Amino acid sequence: MQEPTLANRLLGIKSALPAGVELVAVSKTYPAEKIMEAYEAGQRIFGENRPQEMARKYEELPKDIEWHLIGHLQTNKVKTVVPFVRMIHSVDSARLTEAIQKAAQAAGRTIDILLEIHVADEESKSGWEPQELAEYVRSGAFDRMPNLRVRGVMGVATNTDDERIVRRDFEALRRIKEELAPCFGTDFDTLSMGMSHDYPLAIECGATMVRIGTAIFGARDYSK
Ligand SMILES: *Cc1c(COP(=O)(O)O)cnc(C)c1O
Repeated sequence: MQEPTLANRLLGIKSALPAGVELVAVSKTYPAEKIMEAYEAGQRIFGENRPQEMARKYEELPKDIEWHLIGHLQTNKVKTVVPFVRMIHSVDSARLTEAIQKAAQAAGRTIDILLEIHVADEESKSGWEPQELAEYVRSGAFDRMPNLRVRGVMGVATNTDDERIVRRDFEALRRIKEELAPCFGTDFDTLSMGMSHDYPLAIECGATMVRIGTAIFGARDYSK
């Protein structure tokens, strides 16, 4: 049997997503030609984790692509993405939130953001501690940031084969999203969770956006 093409893999995943679940094709480390293969198969939302790499690809590729930043963003890199980014999934501190507001205002843009929550067992995973975020939201900070549209919550589950733990993390994200929702308007409708190895479970737990890289593009080669 022939190897499925990139377009076959993409369309296979897409056609199995329930209505209302959006696909972010995570193209980090893959070259522009691979992104074009997915683009020609109809994909328009791409996720990157490095600001400079995303800016370079934005310059090179069709302008109707929606670029989503999914990786950690340093405040000094905010200006690199603010002119064109569609959504920042990885907003994980007050300092970063305020830096994005400031840059968005200067650029005359309104930017969709997600609040990244730390739910995984790993110390190293980034994100707000739920308590700390709840306090920040209750302080009314977002009322003073008219250039940010807070669209929801994002998270990464613990990297384990133990489905109970992964489910626990996804359910925690969903619960936090539901708890925060009354503090925001009807735009607060997004729950970004699930990657190549765990997205079916994420969808079962209520994901409205999944971030899938290797299952579409193949294994990444970090040596290049
Ligand atoms: C790389 C990455 C993904 C996609 O991971 P795959 O295993 O390639 O599907 C999703 N979310 C984040 C935050 C990532 O960094």
